[in-house]
Amino acid sequence: MTDAATATETRDLFSKFDPLINEREALLATGVRDPYAIVMDQVLSPTRAIIKGKETILLGTYNYMGMTFDPDVVAAGKKALDEFGAGTTGSRVLNGTYQGHKQVEDALKEFYGTSGAMVFSTGYQANLGIISTLAGKGDYVVLDADSHASIYDGCGLGNAEIVRFRHNSVEDLDKRLGRLPADALKLVVLEGVYSMLGDVAPLPEMVAAIRKHPNCMILCDEAHGMGFFGPNGRGAYEEQGVEGEIDFVVGTFSKSVGTVGGFCVSNHPKFEILRLVCRPYVFTASLPPSVVATAATSIRKLMHSGEKRAHLWKNSQRLHKGLSDLGFKLGSATPQSAIIAVILTDQMQAVAMWQTLLELGLYVNMARPPATPAGTFLLRCSLCAEHSDDQVTQIIGMFETAGKATGAIG
Ligand code: PMP
Repeated sequence: MTDAATATETRDLFSKFDPLINEREALLATGVRDPYAIVMDQVLSPTRAIIKGKETILLGTYNYMGMTFDPDVVAAGKKALDEFGAGTTGSRVLNGTYQGHKQVEDALKEFYGTSGAMVFSTGYQANLGIISTLAGKGDYVVLDADSHASIYDGCGLGNAEIVRFRHNSVEDLDKRLGRLPADALKLVVLEGVYSMLGDVAPLPEMVAAIRKHPNCMILCDEAHGMGFFGPNGRGAYEEQGVEGEIDFVVGTFSKSVGTVGGFCVSNHPKFEILRLVCRPYVFTASLPPSVVATAATSIRKLMHSGEKRAHLWKNSQRLHKGLSDLGFKLGSATPQSAIIAVILTDQMQAVAMWQTLLELGLYVNMARPPATPAGTFLLRCSLCAEHSDDQVTQIIGMFETAGKATGAIG
């Protein structure tokens, strides 16, 4: 084994990480806390936790609908743990399909109004599995340049040709599709809501552009739209009226549903065959019974959550207005989703703001390149339907204090 002290001098397979190690060490040497090593010592509710002894408002979770502490959801998980044990210890195609897995797939079919639903162990694996299995060597995956890592990784695993179009540009999407061989098979991957800036895709215009070209299927990732958008909470594609045009919807249980897991729903008549050929579905253990029971209960409750959705919209609009009135530069000119991104000039300013907010009792997510678009440093705020009016007022006040203390605003 390499001596740790000389690790950065000796060339080995870790050498490529040296620039990142050095950058991180330089940043931590300034005395700031590590933004990627926060520990929640206690979680009191969907919006409050104890971090290093301090009660903190959570504004950096994807718990949009606050389902993590819903009493029915928690009770369903406890019951399943008692009745079915802690885990399945097996793949969905072997010993790992319990009645709870079938029940959560039934709940998804009802929620989305589709004939097929397939549950994966995470949303990452759902994209990895569906994209790599549908689009193989010789096929094309046409995707937005700002797509989530799981979408890019799905293309890599399947060995498909990747064609990127400019973020949310209908014109560029059309142009790039026009350059591909007419007889080639293409999967166009869109996201309803983009998680870094919180902006929404112009789906009807994109669908119209795609339909001008032959042999295209469309997959829409609704990780950040589920629960919040559309009359039934299906996502941005429902809200924008393009349900009949989307061949596959991928989503996650780790956001509005409030637990962990991923899924794909579809009306394609051959959808079920994917269970036998999709490697990230076959070659991994299925979700524990408690998780599928909490997910099924949560999904059924999300079908009747109109009031919560209305409150979440109000929170998003209030926070967007409060932050832009204070002079912060935001990721979108208008509030488009439950994510509001504050754009900062550089890493030092982003970390200073992030740490000051934490000391004031507010947790937000810090995001940096390569996860962010155009090399930006972001503080990503994600609102929850359980944030009270008073908490939103406190949050805006904390941003004002931190912004002035760090020089991020005048
Ligand atoms: N798709 C998108 C757009 C996401 O933002 C995420 C997670 N942040 C995922 C997929 C993966 O979801 P999971 O956390 O369930 O792996």
